[in-house]
Amino acid sequence: MAASHQDVQMNNEEQDDSSTTDADSLIRSNDPLHPANHISDLCRRFYTLGWVTGTGGGVSIRHGNHIYLAPSGVQKEMMQPTDMFVMDFLTKQYVRRPQALKPSACTPLFLAAYMHRNAGCCIHTHSQWAVLVTLICEARLQNPAERNVFAIKEIEQIKGISRGGSGSDDIAEGGRKVGNLGYYDTLRIPIIVNAAHEEDLTEALEEALELYPETCAVLVQRHGLYVWGKDVAQAKTQAESLDHIFQLAVEMHKLGLKWV
Ligand SMILES: [Zn+2]
Repeated sequence: MAASHQDVQMNNEEQDDSSTTDADSLIRSNDPLHPANHISDLCRRFYTLGWVTGTGGGVSIRHGNHIYLAPSGVQKEMMQPTDMFVMDFLTKQYVRRPQALKPSACTPLFLAAYMHRNAGCCIHTHSQWAVLVTLICEARLQNPAERNVFAIKEIEQIKGISRGGSGSDDIAEGGRKVGNLGYYDTLRIPIIVNAAHEEDLTEALEEALELYPETCAVLVQRHGLYVWGKDVAQAKTQAESLDHIFQLAVEMHKLGLKWV
């Protein structure tokens, strides 16, 4: 059962113990792959790709029963481990909450990927390629019958996408990942309509997850992309593969080439 936006909001108000030493121990580590350090690093990398410009987008990592979340309103290239919100996955209550910052409005959407896809990492980008693909679909310029799903086939990078987003990345003979789409599979990413407030997208995203059990991502019309993976590596490489495919799709469209 998904935590509603209201639940998350309520927990935001109920829980505030970020001043305790215990809470700060959750974000202090010399390990660069500790979620608090890793999210800060990923934010800087994604900023250089134009994915999280102007404080947009977001990154979250699940670490055991803790969900680490980059805050709202912080310049992504300046993100610090001390900026991180940490939520208990079971109670959906914040166990660390920086006083001066606001939790990300992406939080309920990230939780949906954790709960419904057993994800270990979730990334939200405002990539221009993702936005352009939704505009082409919205205007029915590729497949006039379908504006709510992006579909493409016979592009090599499709093989970088796992079924459901968090499928097995075991390698079969020939180097193929057994849980991934094949070259002749059609990649389908559902597109949901944007809302004035990010958290109001949660219900539509959950519906899309149910309707498209094989999808690793959801596009948001005129907005961007939510993509997940069973761990950071899978979420990040799928975000990269999709951005590569979206850019190709936009350029193909400009050349009058069909996606499917
Ligand atoms: Zn957004």
